[in-house]
Amino acid sequence: MADQIVLRHVTKKFTTKTLGDIVAVDDFNLSVSEGECFSFLGPSGCGKSTTLRMIAGFEDLTEGEIELCGRIVSSKKKNLYVPPEERGLGMVFQAFAVWPHMNVFENVAFPLRIQKMNKSDIDRRVAEALKHTSLTGLEKTFPSDLSGGQQQRIALARAIVTNPKVMLLDEPLSNLDPKLRETMRFEIKELQRRFGFTIIFVTHDQAEAMAISDRMMVCDMGRIVQIDTPENLYNKPCNRFVHNFLGESTFVNVLVKDGKVYAKGDERQALSLTAPKSAAAEMVVATRPNEIALTGPTEDGYQTHIEKRIFLTDRTEYLVPVGEQIVKVQTPHRVAFAEGEACCVRFVEPMWYPVEDAAAEKERSRRQLV
Ligand code: ATP
Repeated sequence: MADQIVLRHVTKKFTTKTLGDIVAVDDFNLSVSEGECFSFLGPSGCGKSTTLRMIAGFEDLTEGEIELCGRIVSSKKKNLYVPPEERGLGMVFQAFAVWPHMNVFENVAFPLRIQKMNKSDIDRRVAEALKHTSLTGLEKTFPSDLSGGQQQRIALARAIVTNPKVMLLDEPLSNLDPKLRETMRFEIKELQRRFGFTIIFVTHDQAEAMAISDRMMVCDMGRIVQIDTPENLYNKPCNRFVHNFLGESTFVNVLVKDGKVYAKGDERQALSLTAPKSAAAEMVVATRPNEIALTGPTEDGYQTHIEKRIFLTDRTEYLVPVGEQIVKVQTPHRVAFAEGEACCVRFVEPMWYPVEDAAAEKERSRRQLV
């Protein structure tokens, strides 16, 4: 598949009065293939929306260039900038962004009127877009008389009516309740299957991104941290940040001494783990709460007890002291322990990460303040 969206060394700096310079997007390089659904994911302030706005043409670049469908649309070096309406994109941005003073037909026809398309072509194209978004019959209705889901469909219909090759979706489902979000997610994928456009999807919601994406990019503090399939990002996160960001995580601070591994705060009882050769004296062992083996006290593992038992609908959660930390373990309901009962925990093939740098946490919160 050909690359349809290419970012080369794309950088965006903002200067703010209160907090100084922010590199919102720092040297982004990425290629998205034709027909791919690619998500930008990361905490607030990591640079997702700024990147999307640069692709759309609403934001200039500080450095680098952007290519869409084989054409350079933004380039600092070449002093080139194609305005948004000439980039051939479909867009659904945060909030519904439908025009309240226009009826459904006019909302959807708007991009075609800008292109000065003739009336019969407009009628045909709008009818088609409404059909694919289940809005036929509502042409004369105003958005305020429609449900949240229907309003969102108007925004989708308006985005597909120009037959774009690339669709930019920025938190398009954020105003909808969870059930409707799921339905709309399917509808977006169905539209993509039918029309074959490439999607860039920006969201805070990692489960949503995982469900919809072929590949995802996780960013942190203006940098790309990892680009991969949802499965690989979940199973092989490249660092602690990505591990923590996708799905539930359990982290245990450990000390590596004379080939043995101890939970911090308890050097009397080693964990049954072998540290990787490259391990420093202090490390973090990471796993998923449902991948920790919880067994009776006589079996192999770290001897401890159940501090707390929490019944969740589809599983049971136990809080278990390991050294000076309390570790979260999740099991099927049939693994039943009582509070105070002795038990063993064993970490099965965990990931190993260096101890987190405190400066990174500080920088993350600074970015959210700007
Ligand atoms: P969110 O999920 O909250 O939308 P985001 O990941 O989309 O966050 P951006 O909106 O791209 O993040 O912002 C990246 C950084 O750039 C943040 O620190 C933000 O405060 C800063 N920023 C964004 N736009 C501007 C601007 N116009 N002027 C100054 N700083 C800005």
